[in-house]
This record gives sequence, C-alpha cells and structure tokens, in this order.
Amino acid sequence: MKITHVQALYPRYQHVKSSWRTHFWQIAVRVETDTGLVGWGYGGGGVAAVEIVNRHFRPLLVGRPLTDPAGLEDLWDALYLASAPYGRRGLAIMALSGVDLALWDLLGQAEGCSICELLGGPRHPRVRAYATGGELARHRDQGFSAYKLPYQFSSPEQGSDELVAWAGGARTAMGAEGLLMIDGYMSWSPEQAVSAAAALVPFDIYWFEDLLLPDLVEAQAQLRPQIKPVLLAGGEHEFTHYGFAELARAQALDMWQPDITWCGGLTAARRIVELARQYQIPVVFHRGGEVWGLHLIAAGFGEPLAELVGGRQEAPKDQLWLDEPQAEEGYLHVPQKPGFGVRINEDMF
Ligand SMILES: [Mg+2]
Repeated sequence: MKITHVQALYPRYQHVKSSWRTHFWQIAVRVETDTGLVGWGYGGGGVAAVEIVNRHFRPLLVGRPLTDPAGLEDLWDALYLASAPYGRRGLAIMALSGVDLALWDLLGQAEGCSICELLGGPRHPRVRAYATGGELARHRDQGFSAYKLPYQFSSPEQGSDELVAWAGGARTAMGAEGLLMIDGYMSWSPEQAVSAAAALVPFDIYWFEDLLLPDLVEAQAQLRPQIKPVLLAGGEHEFTHYGFAELARAQALDMWQPDITWCGGLTAARRIVELARQYQIPVVFHRGGEVWGLHLIAAGFGEPLAELVGGRQEAPKDQLWLDEPQAEEGYLHVPQKPGFGVRINEDMF
C-alpha cells in the first residue's frame, strides 16, 4: 500500500489544567493509504509537534510505499535523519512517535491482525497492571496488586517522615506481595533519595522513579548503588535507542521506562528493548497500560507490568480513544482487533 495523506491533529481537550501532565500535550496522527485503510497513532509535543508532522514529515511520506516492518523502519530512519538538525530528542521525536504508531496500526490492519500478533503473538495474554496516583485503597479494592505514589519533596531540606508514614499504611493495605513504587518527578536531591531509601527499608519499595533531571546522568550512576535494594528507574524523558545507549554506557539506571508515544514509537521501543537485553536491564514502559504499549508488552517486549495513570475518580476526563481495555481484577487483556484496536473519538476535534 502507498501513503496518500498524513495529518496530525491536536484534540480539543476540555479538562486540561495548568500542568502539561494532565494530557501530556498528546496529539493524534492520521495516515491514509491508497487501499482505503486509515491508521491512527498517538504522539506527544502538542501543537508544535502537529506542525512538524504536517509541514515537514507529510511531504516526506506521501507517495512512499508501506509494506512490512522493515520498510517501516526505513521510513523511521529517514524521518529521524531529516529532523536531526532540530530533533534527536524532544518535540521532533514525540511527533515521529505518532507517525510511527499510525504506520504500525496500518500494517496490523493490512494483515488483519492485532499489533501483538504482528509482533509474534501473545506471550502474556493478560498483563498485571499497576496504578499510578489516585487513591490506593480504591485501586486495591478494584483488584490492583501494584501501586505507585507520585511524591515531590516541597523543599531540599524536607526529610522522609511523610513518606515513611505513607509507606507503613500502604504496605499494610497491599500486603506483603503487593508492589509499591515512588515517582519523584525530578524533584528529589540525591541526599533525599539516600535517606528515603534507608528509612523505607522495612516497607520493601520496588523502585524510585525519575528522581533527578534526566541530564544528570553521572549523578544518577553515582546514586544508583546508594539506594539499594530499591531500584533506580527512569527514562520517560529519554528518546530513541541512541539516547538509551548513553544511559547504558553510563550505567545510570537499574530500570528503563521509555514512553512509546514519546520515545520514537514502537520502532524505537523495539530497538530500546533489544539494547536493554544486551545490558540485562529490565524495561517497564511508561504508561504501558495504554494500547500503544500494551501490545508490545503482551508480545513479550519488556517486563509484564503495565502502568495505568489513575488520577482522581471524580475528576472529569476527556476520552480521546474509544474501546480502550479496562483493568479487570488488576489485569489488562490485549485487544484482539486488527491494529491497535482502538477508535478515535471524533467529538474531540
Ligand atoms: Mg513517572
């Protein structure tokens, strides 16, 4: 099949707060072909990424054939090269992610199979989900056995008392088998991380995530052995296999967490997982419970653990994708329909 049109769109979000994190400035990418098939992908980068797709990538893609994963990888490499002067990290790769996922969606549809099947079939037909944020007790009552607390220190002097108090209650609520993690969103100092790790030993925290600015690669490499047995996790703000290769060489992290809709799409994610295998580093995808990552996880790429960002139950949410799988008793089932198996909500445009 041949690509005939490419269009990135910024949804009309109704519930975006001042923080970019509410919707991560996510964009949708639509790719049309001469077969009549239409693929949809999900990328990051907001209206700036929309411009990159529509004004730079579109003319490079229209008229090009799309036949198989190898050909798709060639297109990815061509777009990476074309955007390298202003890209390599950040917006351009978030834009490329949306294009890449739309092209994979088309390959699945053309073969009449799900992305998971296209990648070799389900190794994990159901994947354990973990909840990030929201109310721990509610998630536990819904059947979740794994929970991650977003926690930012309010000042560099603040100690671990609040975290210890939380961890005591959380461990009691989740039981000995439950997984507990903490996400610092780049707000912790190395000193705070070391003392928190020591104070939290009785509560068996699985990982600390995203503690320092991603640029502080050396500082993370130094911190990593000091917080054991807690794992130092991160990588949601890193891009492509080139970026993760630098983290590998520096031995900066115990666990990688690429975001498929930001790091360069499924093509980049597969390359990152391959690299992680060489270095024996576990990969737990950022927001892996959304279909864009779930197919890959179900097919055996990365650890079988999928993040669902919880938020508050009562808060209204925009629904951009329809037919998304919902957790049942703490597990997610990968969709069977061709492609990624979700539909775009046209009311969002
Ligand atoms: Mg995070």
